[in-house]
Amino acid sequence: MMASVAAAPPSAELSEPPRAFASGKQQDRELLAATPLRARPRPSRLAVRITALRGAGPRLAETASELGIDSIGDLLWHLPHTYRDRSALSEIGELRIGQEATVEVEVRSVKLRPTRRRRLTIVEATVADESGPAKAVWFNQPWLAEQLAGGTRVLLSGKLDRSGFKVSAHEVVGDEPDDGVPPAGLHTTGIVPVHPASARLRPQKLRDWAWQALAFARHAIEPLPSSLRQKLELAAVGDALAAAHFPSDLAEADVGRQRLAFEELFLHQAALASRRSKHDAARRAPALDPPGELTPAWIKSLPFGLTADQSRAVEEIDTDLAGERPMQRLLMGEVGSGKTVCALYAMLRAVESGHQAALMAPTETLAEQHFQTLERLLAGAGLPSATLLTGSTSAARRREALAHLANGQLELVVGTHALIERDVEFARLALAVVDEQHRFGVNQRAALDSKGPGDAAPHTLHMTATPIPRTLSMTAYGDLDVTALHELPAGRRPVKTWVVGEEKRSGAYEFIRERLREGRQAFVVCPLVSESDKLQARAATKEGERLAKGEFRDFEVDVLHGQMKADDKQRAMGRFASGETDVLVATSVIEVGIDVPNASAMVIEEADRYGLSQLHQLRGRVGRGEYESACILFADTEAEAATIRLETISSERDGFKLAEVDLSLRGEGEILGTRQHGLPRFRAATLPRDSGTLLRARDEVLALLHRHGSLDAPELGPLMDAARMRFGDERAEPIAA
Ligand code: ADP
Ligand code: MG
Repeated sequence: MMASVAAAPPSAELSEPPRAFASGKQQDRELLAATPLRARPRPSRLAVRITALRGAGPRLAETASELGIDSIGDLLWHLPHTYRDRSALSEIGELRIGQEATVEVEVRSVKLRPTRRRRLTIVEATVADESGPAKAVWFNQPWLAEQLAGGTRVLLSGKLDRSGFKVSAHEVVGDEPDDGVPPAGLHTTGIVPVHPASARLRPQKLRDWAWQALAFARHAIEPLPSSLRQKLELAAVGDALAAAHFPSDLAEADVGRQRLAFEELFLHQAALASRRSKHDAARRAPALDPPGELTPAWIKSLPFGLTADQSRAVEEIDTDLAGERPMQRLLMGEVGSGKTVCALYAMLRAVESGHQAALMAPTETLAEQHFQTLERLLAGAGLPSATLLTGSTSAARRREALAHLANGQLELVVGTHALIERDVEFARLALAVVDEQHRFGVNQRAALDSKGPGDAAPHTLHMTATPIPRTLSMTAYGDLDVTALHELPAGRRPVKTWVVGEEKRSGAYEFIRERLREGRQAFVVCPLVSESDKLQARAATKEGERLAKGEFRDFEVDVLHGQMKADDKQRAMGRFASGETDVLVATSVIEVGIDVPNASAMVIEEADRYGLSQLHQLRGRVGRGEYESACILFADTEAEAATIRLETISSERDGFKLAEVDLSLRGEGEILGTRQHGLPRFRAATLPRDSGTLLRARDEVLALLHRHGSLDAPELGPLMDAARMRFGDERAEPIAA
């Protein structure tokens, strides 16, 4: 598959120590020189700090550290993000203005040209090849005037413009280079790799280091079982690294990178699978009886029929609950997709078979809302005993609740972190629901997981209102079973969405006033100020005052932001829900929470600051009733890229699809919350580009698991060691450790 490897790295590695070793880095030098030539691979040598390399002093090493590069191994995995094709040398005579090229020339004369600007120096040289002379120009490298004597042969990469050939990289073509010193042409000829660099650590430096580091690539551990490598025709890791850094052509670079991406995704999937099977093996959960009378009757009593997605979720939950393997299911669906109904079903199933159930939400507001929903929807089921437990629960009520949870009198509890405090004990907790699961830490989820009876673990249903595409969820939630709710419940109307510029502002307010006069209500969402909740709160307050005196002076305006006290928030929401206020000026806190069917219009300021998924969630706060609803996005329409991105949201209503667009346009890091969702930082793999590779990696992990019965089989030792080393504790794990 990968026949040859390009530029040969220094082969007789360190038989002659590179120059830097002559100058005092004694320790590194001994460590490196200790290995005889052609010895067995020694992975520990990849841990050697980069200061062992020529041209890597302590200052630059510090800068490199900011890029995540400390060791030679880090450098090997710091892959080029692009390549420049300099495989053809040009002749001076054939260059056109504006053309980028590499030429090989002889320096005729060189001089430092005076300039008026103190910070600017220009070195000018007359250079020539067989086709003729040209003027070459360097900026801010005055020492070159001394270095480049007449007669020197140099390779120049750069661009021809009217004032001459502007050099971006040059290399002196000389005698055979010393050992450990890259050959001339590394930076200017062939396929030139460009590594992600920084202002103080330029690509040329990184390229030089990468070339030196490649001598150590053969010490990289090969984590992939050889049978798998044969089956999939994958090169050895060392060859793949060489191909990715210094390929002979672009196809080879791609093959190398894909091989590394496969390894990464494969190790990650293996780590997740092993974590899950450990959790499964460690503790049993109570196997629940099949549905009795309570739950079917309850479903019938609901004022609506379940959507097809909800029915499927309920079936999958039933299957999970019937077993002793602790359920670890993630219910993924945007706000309003009907997750809570599914969660209540699971909770009722626990109660029905004589157990207790708990629902934990990240905020008091959410907990209260869930509790209200529970009371409303369970009224028809002959409400089991239930209570709300949050930080604001009075001491007396808390004492009573704890007593009743411990003796089993209380069957259902909804709450916040208050639920996982040490003194909260359950008589027989069989089901735990974690809403907005990414907002809890590993320890908090583990604490809930430990509240099961005796050694048993509760079945756990995780919920998230952030839909992400399947390939992402396989990496972020690879150790959970995922159920997605795509379909919105009947009765939800599409929200008409427009992206507009400043010039439409007064028209937009008039549009909103019309709705208000018809008796509807509206949201105004203030700009996202990511640096500070305080600033954001202040902005919302100011905007509220402005609108109350200005555009909406004939209406009731109220403000809602995250810095308000819980009571005040509650009151503001209550007034809006009851129709007392017409316009709610809010920060993005309304994203979770509010359900007001009479609200039919929304304005979002500086919409280009938000991700598509986030805008979609915000927009989901309107269109919940019988009225035609509208969402107006204010954005800087001069910024074309942002406008194109935002236009997608006018036509697309599926949150999963919007997340996919976000993903392909902005990269995985930008999708709302994916960082918190525990996506690891991959070094070779990029999603969604490598979706196919991910699916293959997952299949192969499952095949291994199937063949060996467990990933703990001794012959998988090296693989699992590598998986743990790479992904062991990097991500927040949903499953208790
Ligand atoms: P989520 O928890 O995903 O935000 P909820 O379960 O709170 O969604 O449901 C949102 C609203 O839609 C609630 O008022 C709920 O009663 C209602 N609802 C849920 N499922 C359906 C359905 N199948 N048909 C109609 N309305 C539904
Ligand atoms: Mg909800």
